[in-house]
Amino acid sequence: MPGPGSDHLNGLDPRAPLVLDTRELGRRPGSQRQVSLTVPAPADLGIEVLSVPEGAPVELDLRLEAVMEGVLITGSAAATLEGECVRCLEPIRDEFEVRFQELFVYDDIRDSAEAEEDDEVSMLEDDLVDLEPLLRDAVVLALPFQPLCQDDCPGLCSECGVRLLEQPDHVHEEAIDPRWKALTTLTDEAQHDPTD
Ligand SMILES: [Zn+2]
Ligand SMILES: [Zn+2]
Repeated sequence: MPGPGSDHLNGLDPRAPLVLDTRELGRRPGSQRQVSLTVPAPADLGIEVLSVPEGAPVELDLRLEAVMEGVLITGSAAATLEGECVRCLEPIRDEFEVRFQELFVYDDIRDSAEAEEDDEVSMLEDDLVDLEPLLRDAVVLALPFQPLCQDDCPGLCSECGVRLLEQPDHVHEEAIDPRWKALTTLTDEAQHDPTD
């Protein structure tokens, strides 16, 4: 239960799993702190075809370092990805690790109006850091746009939909009738783009 006076609507929730309190670090440039924690994955961590299931553990290893302007966070996140091969639709399950680094600027050094215009700048809010956008960006950037079960996945048979990795030698008895084959070739040539 949030206590009286808690004001989570207008700021970061210090109890949220991906919100980090940097107060212990202090503001003396050069001071450092190592933080290791496991957090539940937020929803939609990844891309449509490959993502970390919501609630699955994400292991974070972070180094917090006080610098003149704010807190520099360097770290890595490790988790399990689930998705499917875009060619053969086979489920994919893969361990992955991403590294990231971000400077969070003290909100009392940079005024927030200025910062709002520049969304490249990450800000601390009352010494709290929201790691979620950082984690999200790092994960999405690290993922392949077209996940494959293996690099040379041959996909599915265009005639019957069987997964060709499982039946690499599979052929169809009903090969195209040679008479039709001649016609197919003609059609292919006719459809060839003349500007190509
Ligand atoms: Zn595949
Ligand atoms: Zn087939």
